[in-house]
Amino acid sequence: MKTNIPWPQLEAIHTIAFDFDGVFTDNKVYVSETGMEHVRCDRADGLAIDLLRSYKRVRALDFQMIILSKEKNPVVAARARKLGIRCVSGKDHKLNWLKTFFESTRPHDIAPFTGLIYLGNDLNDLPAIECAGFSVVPADAHPLLRSAASVVLNTLGGCGFVREFVERLLRLGQMNREELYELIHNSGDRHQS
Ligand SMILES: [Mg+2]
Repeated sequence: MKTNIPWPQLEAIHTIAFDFDGVFTDNKVYVSETGMEHVRCDRADGLAIDLLRSYKRVRALDFQMIILSKEKNPVVAARARKLGIRCVSGKDHKLNWLKTFFESTRPHDIAPFTGLIYLGNDLNDLPAIECAGFSVVPADAHPLLRSAASVVLNTLGGCGFVREFVERLLRLGQMNREELYELIHNSGDRHQS
């Protein structure tokens, strides 16, 4: 793990990119006899995304969230839709996709990866983990990712990992009740992301 990297201020972040399997799921897949695939997600992570979006709205921030997955299975898009997050799936080389994306959306940004938070769990995330200004992995991430990330969280992928990330990013434990209730009461509306 890169040592002594402080959690960023969201004002300095323009993109939060999430891997899907092993981040929003426990990295397991149920396969039926017809080949239909099912995954298991954590509703605590869903509320976390709502809180993050609410924080963005209350503080008038400008970051975007993207789920960036290697998987082409429609379960990824279905969960992303439910969470209200843009989904880019079937991407084998995530770092290349991000480079191209930033070149087109942030053409004047000479160091676009500085404003990126990246969350991933497996080897195909390693290049992006190493380039992102701040990178976060679950407790059960591959050892090489645990070594490379800015921070390793206490939770496992799909078991409240995104929830822990959001609560620490927003410094939820330091909020007073008024700030907390404002976030909660604004968290039901998913028309912005
Ligand atoms: Mg993964």
